[in-house]
Amino acid sequence: MPHVLILGGTTEARGLAEALAGAGTDLPSSAARPPHRVTTSLAGRVQNPVLPPGETRIGGFGGPRGLADWVRDHGVTHLVDATHPFAERMSFHAAEASVVAGVPLLALRRPAWQPVPGDTWHRVPDLRAAAELLPDLGSRAFLTTGRMGLAAFAGLDRMWFLVRSVDAPEPPMPVRTEVLLARGPFGLEDERELLRTHRIDVLVTKDSGGSATAPKLTAARESGIPVLVIDRPVVPEGVPEASSVPEALNWLAGVAF
Ligand code: NAP
Repeated sequence: MPHVLILGGTTEARGLAEALAGAGTDLPSSAARPPHRVTTSLAGRVQNPVLPPGETRIGGFGGPRGLADWVRDHGVTHLVDATHPFAERMSFHAAEASVVAGVPLLALRRPAWQPVPGDTWHRVPDLRAAAELLPDLGSRAFLTTGRMGLAAFAGLDRMWFLVRSVDAPEPPMPVRTEVLLARGPFGLEDERELLRTHRIDVLVTKDSGGSATAPKLTAARESGIPVLVIDRPVVPEGVPEASSVPEALNWLAGVAF
């Protein structure tokens, strides 16, 4: 029986698991598909993750070899890397494990965001470069880069930060920080309100793509607030890509699923 292992932690990973379980309303029903197993793997970073349908496993595999062993030991026939575009290490591990274990791999990656007229974006290669440029752009920053990378901004004592993350961040982080615990998707009106009430004058974001967190970009544009956009890291070469769940389903259909 086909066994799909989805490396998850994203909306798209959950969407694919739902579609394969037949729960996606706008997608072909599971009745059209042969019997199959689906396992979603989560890193375990979020305390109360929203679990997708199908089987789930939580925690690292112990590097690419550990992942390859897991794939072989559990009869995985198809591997889908649906991790976040910034989960750089896992994407490389998936590429290596796919070769070692001899199973086909697809990267399901949402398209990057593109600026539109009215946006003032400053693209930087990483968090360190963002922290260097940030004081030139504003003094009250809305930091939406996740709770793991706050150390890069810890030295910016003169700035004030609103940090939004799913779970509480841990030090090191900037001294003048207010933490807002929230899980997307976020609506445009709420984002406008957030910028207004906290008198935000610069937004910092990873180029995560997707619609769940995009309204902050619209709100920033409307308010004339500059946005520091952290570019995506490099991805392994030669891995086929899908940019949506239907595309991923097509790929699965094409590799004898
Ligand atoms: P990472 O740096 O690429 O991965 C670090 C280690 O975490 C990997 O070596 C692996 O451990 C483990 N890991 C990562 N994803 C895993 C998965 N889906 N299942 C099992 N183990 C996994 O990743 P990260 O940036 O820490 O992100 C961790 C997770 O959070 C990812 O699943 C990602 O989709 C999600 N996420 C990340 C971001 C972000 O901005 N980075 C944002 C939203 C969601 P082993 O080597 O032991 O296998």
